[in-house]
Amino acid sequence: MIELFRGDITRLEVDAIVNAANETLRGGGGVDGAIHRAAGPDLLAECRTLGGCPTGEARITGGYRLPARHVIHTVGPVWREAGTEDALLAACYRNCFALAREHGLGSIAFPAISTGVYGFPADRAAGIAVAGAQAHGAGFARIVFACFDEATEALYRRELSA
Ligand code: ADP
Repeated sequence: MIELFRGDITRLEVDAIVNAANETLRGGGGVDGAIHRAAGPDLLAECRTLGGCPTGEARITGGYRLPARHVIHTVGPVWREAGTEDALLAACYRNCFALAREHGLGSIAFPAISTGVYGFPADRAAGIAVAGAQAHGAGFARIVFACFDEATEALYRRELSA
């Protein structure tokens, strides 16, 4: 079941929200900053024990003060030009679903990974996100795409109806 939610991903009551983190897992701006602010300092403390995360991979932590039980941290590619970035962004979605499944989670929410500071074209990223959910999301009760603004939501809506 794929749903669209417009607004702040930190408000979602799901088994896991996905964080668009950086390789250090030490927090940052954008959705990463919002998740750390909402979860509280214990999230950063747990992240520090993980030793970072390579681009395209994913790591799981607790959700602490979030309504979500867990955070799955994944590191999207920085956009340079159409090259290896598509495969790395697809790997983020695939690895998040795999980790959620390993932990028996039934509901997961994603932000638009790599489309902020990392500069990935939002329409192309929405296509990869929806394809990832369709390819790897079987068995999940809820898959939520958290769209921070109306333009992002419109891109996902178009991909879902394609
Ligand atoms: P990246 O470094 O992977 O590009 P950003 O955090 O800069 O990550 O942006 C990823 C996307 O998350 C952008 O589309 C941005 O608008 C969106 N975003 C920022 N804050 C939030 C939030 N609180 N909830 C959901 N999405 C958010």
